[in-house]
Amino acid sequence: MRSRRVVGPLHRLRGLVVSNVFVLDGGRGDRWLIDTGHALERPMLLAGLRATGLFPRDLDGVLLTHRHSDHAGNAEYLRRVHGLRIFAHRADAAVLEGMAPPPPLVAQSGARLERMFAAIENRTRTRVPVDRALDDGDAVGSLEVFHAPGHTEGSVLYRHAGTSSLLSGDALLAAVPPLTLLQRMTLPHADYSVDYAQALASLRRLHAASPRYENLLAGHGRPILGGAQRAAERLLEAHATGSLTSQTLPAETGPSHRGARTP
Ligand SMILES: [Zn+2]
Repeated sequence: MRSRRVVGPLHRLRGLVVSNVFVLDGGRGDRWLIDTGHALERPMLLAGLRATGLFPRDLDGVLLTHRHSDHAGNAEYLRRVHGLRIFAHRADAAVLEGMAPPPPLVAQSGARLERMFAAIENRTRTRVPVDRALDDGDAVGSLEVFHAPGHTEGSVLYRHAGTSSLLSGDALLAAVPPLTLLQRMTLPHADYSVDYAQALASLRRLHAASPRYENLLAGHGRPILGGAQRAAERLLEAHATGSLTSQTLPAETGPSHRGARTP
């Protein structure tokens, strides 16, 4: 199996369908797994990692974008079996460690598929001890941490300045959920977010602060290479002016997945 390099030292693991897992191979002391995928995709996670030339023991730790089961699903396994340190924002760490109850997802759209996925997540208890609780503004290796609460209380985005890339988890998507067949930059999903208004406010604050980025490596959808920040700003503006009828822009005006290969 070939590894799939996205840009510079950032790889997207092949073979995972439910959500994206990325590897930053920045050399000794700067090798990270960003998210872990769903527990059902553990074999794909391990095979995908091997394809980058790395074993779990080579990694410096696991950086979670947030606590949901399709992102943190293998964290406990990686910690217990391979001794990897787990990093997550302290607000999500409280839930992952069982200190705080997760607020239940309420699929307000009433759509059947959304209701089903929300019910599954509500019944899943993703638990893992967190070795380092992150805060906004922290640095982990060559990554900067941005706290963007709303999708979950402790959602974070990681920026890799060296390649001008933003790893966004579910705080900003590259495909339309829940089935993600439509590959396009998309706002966080209201039905899967604990506080949708806060999720949007976090995104606006992030873009007002303007940590520059060109590439978006989201938790769902193919990476968007080039022009991602401009596209996100257009998307937020369209939402603010009410010209957005769904969570994404129409195809002809939406950002492209330039340079991204199909799975
Ligand atoms: Zn999520």
